[in-house]
Formats: sequence, structure tokens, C-alpha cells
Amino acid sequence: MYSYRACAEPGCRRSAFFEDERCLDHAADPDALVAGGIERLRGSDEIRNLNLAGIRLDGLDLAGKSFICCSFANASLQAVLFTGAHFKICLFDGADIGSCDFSGISAQFSSFGAARILNSSFENSELLHLNFSGARIEDCTFNNSNLYDSRFIKTELVTTAFQDCDLKRVHLIPASEVGVSYRYSNTAEAIRDLDHAWQ
Ligand SMILES: [Zn+2]
Repeated sequence: MYSYRACAEPGCRRSAFFEDERCLDHAADPDALVAGGIERLRGSDEIRNLNLAGIRLDGLDLAGKSFICCSFANASLQAVLFTGAHFKICLFDGADIGSCDFSGISAQFSSFGAARILNSSFENSELLHLNFSGARIEDCTFNNSNLYDSRFIKTELVTTAFQDCDLKRVHLIPASEVGVSYRYSNTAEAIRDLDHAWQ
């Protein structure tokens, strides 16, 4: 399980970043820490137990890597390529995700709760037991993906496509939907109201 260490700064409720005892805001040399975190991401194909909460990544190629128990919570991820990557128990809660490629991924038990996800692709992916609750998802595509048992509760969906998706047991109870397409998807197998959510 994800190894959570609290920031050593008294009163701070964030988690300790990467190899430091403090969070990114309280670290003595955040730039060096971020550089170290990026080096670790680049240098290994299997990345485990890494807390990069709050990191800013721009234009990084992380295609095909495996992430296990990693946190990108509250991170800013811009134009990052996760193409064909694997994720297990990873956190993207509160992250700001723009123009990223999550196509062809396999992901399980990971959370994008309250994230802002713009202009990004989750196409042709296995997205099992993921949480997108409270997120805002705009100009994104999930086409041709299996979303089994994933949750979109109180999610804002804007001009986003779920075409030819497997929506079995998907909790599809958005706060709002504008310009969303479910063409060729089995919406009848999705859970569309909270009264049936936990049956
Ligand atoms: Zn702190």
C-alpha cells in the first residue's frame, strides 16, 4: 500500500514529498527535489511507492512505464505522455491535467477525484475500478475503453466522448453533462442514479 509519511513541518497536513521529510511547500530545496523526482521517473520502468504530490511536469515522456502506489495528487501534469502505461493504486486527486495522453493504458484502483482534466485521451484503455468523482473532464475521449466499476459521481462532463465503451457497473451520475456522446456504448449496464449505486 502507498506509504504515507506526514510532512515534518508542525501543523502541516500534507504528505512528505519523494525522499524528503517535508512536503514540496516546506522542503528546503524544492527545485532539487523535483529534479530528483523527475530523474527517478525517467530512470526506471517500474515506479513504486513514490509520492510526487504537487509536482509540476511539463512535456515528459513516461510511456509504457508501470506505476504502483504512486501519488500525483494536486500535481500539474501538462503534455505528459503516459501512453500504454500501467497504474495500480495511484492517486491523481486534485491534479490539473492538460493535454496528456493516457491512451492504451491499463489502470486499476486509482483515483482522479476532483481533478481537472482537459484535452486528454483515455482511449483504447482498461480503466477498472477508477474514481473520477468530483472531477471536471472537458474535451476528453474515453473511446473504445473498458471502464468496469469506475465512478463518475458528481463529475462535470463537457464535450467528452465515451463511444464504444464497456460501461458495465460504471457509476455514471454526473453533476452536469454537456455535449457528451455514449454512441455504441452499453449505457443500460451503467448505474445512473444513487438509489442503485451500492446494490
Ligand atoms: Zn508541509
